[in-house]
Amino acid sequence: MRKIRLAAPSHWYRKFNSSMKKHFTLLLLTMLAFVGYAQKKPEASFEQHFVNLRNTFRANDAFETVKFVEPRWRLAGNTGFNESIGYVEKILQQAGFKKEVTGEADGPLTYRIETRKMRHPTWEPVSASLTIEGEVTPILMYATNHNMMAVNSASTPKEGITAEVIDVGQGTRQDFEGKDVTGKIVLGEAGARNLYSIAMEMGAAGVLAYSMPAYNQPEKHVNSIQFQSIPLKDIEQQKWVILLSYQAKEKLKAVLAKGTLRVTVKTETKIYTADELTLVANARGTTHPDERFVFSAHVQEPGANDNATGVGTLAEMARTTAELIQQKKLVPLRTITFLWGDEINSTDRYIKDDAVRARGIKWGLSLDMVGEDVSKTGGTFLIEKMPDPSAIWTRGNEKHTEWGGNVLTEAQMFPHYFNDILLNRCFQQARTNGWNVQSNPFEGGSDHTPFLQAKIPGLLMWHFTDVFYHTDGDRIDMVSAEEMKNVGVSALATAFLLCSADESETLLLVDEVSTNAHKRLAVEFELSKAAIKSGSKIADEQHILEVWTDWYVKAIGTMTDILPGGSTEGVTLKITSAQGKLQHKRDELVNALNTRK
Ligand SMILES: [Zn+2]
Repeated sequence: MRKIRLAAPSHWYRKFNSSMKKHFTLLLLTMLAFVGYAQKKPEASFEQHFVNLRNTFRANDAFETVKFVEPRWRLAGNTGFNESIGYVEKILQQAGFKKEVTGEADGPLTYRIETRKMRHPTWEPVSASLTIEGEVTPILMYATNHNMMAVNSASTPKEGITAEVIDVGQGTRQDFEGKDVTGKIVLGEAGARNLYSIAMEMGAAGVLAYSMPAYNQPEKHVNSIQFQSIPLKDIEQQKWVILLSYQAKEKLKAVLAKGTLRVTVKTETKIYTADELTLVANARGTTHPDERFVFSAHVQEPGANDNATGVGTLAEMARTTAELIQQKKLVPLRTITFLWGDEINSTDRYIKDDAVRARGIKWGLSLDMVGEDVSKTGGTFLIEKMPDPSAIWTRGNEKHTEWGGNVLTEAQMFPHYFNDILLNRCFQQARTNGWNVQSNPFEGGSDHTPFLQAKIPGLLMWHFTDVFYHTDGDRIDMVSAEEMKNVGVSALATAFLLCSADESETLLLVDEVSTNAHKRLAVEFELSKAAIKSGSKIADEQHILEVWTDWYVKAIGTMTDILPGGSTEGVTLKITSAQGKLQHKRDELVNALNTRK
């Protein structure tokens, strides 16, 4: 086992029948006692932040925000996006954040809404239906299938378009050969974008597209539709794509198998030029305001978990931070920034638009799909780590999600303490309630990637694999207020620590990361031992231990930046000594592998 997964006991627990429970409980208590002993000192010192946060974070308020945001189909510039920003703005105002007049230095709690002209028009759905000719009840309706229109689909005439459906199979150019689709509706099992492009070239009236990833389990969740988009070149020429659920596709195919199929498609959408909004709030650092911890939650995308929960959790985190500052329970020496906007674009611009500001960004943390009710979605809470050797040698308890990740190279490593400190805060929260905390090797694809590209430490808090990911099954009943609280409390505890650490806390953090490093080496040593037994080269396995050691030696080395204003001699000494011990351990383990043939 790589990590001490403190949340795991409750998970294992369910697997044991009652007669075994007693023995298991004893074992569990022994393990917990050991872990408690090993980590008692650092955690006890950090506990006050947790106590304040647990008492102040209102899970219900976070959930109320999700309820407001969730029904709105959000894309940068559209009504749902802007109303969501407006809702969060009100929360900030009520919490005591003041709108900037001259800038962030206006006060301890400020916010601003940035407005940018968009290069492309925005889009929003109004209504839609798909009906087999001769039938009364539509087989798909917008009211029950929010994702049935591909983004950028145009409106049909009010009465809809009724036409024959031509099946083009997998939708390749070859599949179109010999078929006249002029003025007809194309049905294909392919991604909307390609299918639409070819169908338009061929003069089709519109497209019915089916393509659902296996992790959405479409044959089980037969009504789910995953959202997709089509290109928009010319508003006058624009047509539409209806995205099919598994059930709708099967029904159409069954009719087609018997002969001719005609359907009526009605779509109503809005395509218009708009401004894009970004909401930025700051709890200003008292002594080092230009150094900051940046939280982000993307507003666009139509789901409840993805990402109304990120928006709601972050709004409540900002409110909680304001309350604790007002009560003088928190004095952030560095600035804590809260950012709501368009995924990846907003964090990317936040870094690139202002080189001076960018130099002060010390950590970026993305909240994306953070509120899942794991009993319903199948997702697990995860921290996606910055590139560490588990993304090169993914073994033992390490595994990629179904999102998938590339094998990284040693040159792509990002040694830093941020991984361990955030994970440990999540475990600290988990210890009180059995929250299941896991991590995955780096994969990418959310607000954290622009930070990493700019060589700024960046992490992602998320859940995967969610069976309703990106589908219109991702609704409010899949959301857990408690899960949002766990995420919000742990995320803020991390930011509070890193933005206000004193010397003794910094020393404890060095201890904590060193402990993790030694545990990691022990785990990798066992894995390498087993690998050698089954035929791996000793030198290759020794290399893995060396790379892990190197990663952690460098990660511990980065801890000189935790203390605002610069490291003390005590911290520097502690870091050097921790690095030395780790290198010593490496030599011992590498030698031990030599003796195993
Ligand atoms: Zn998403």
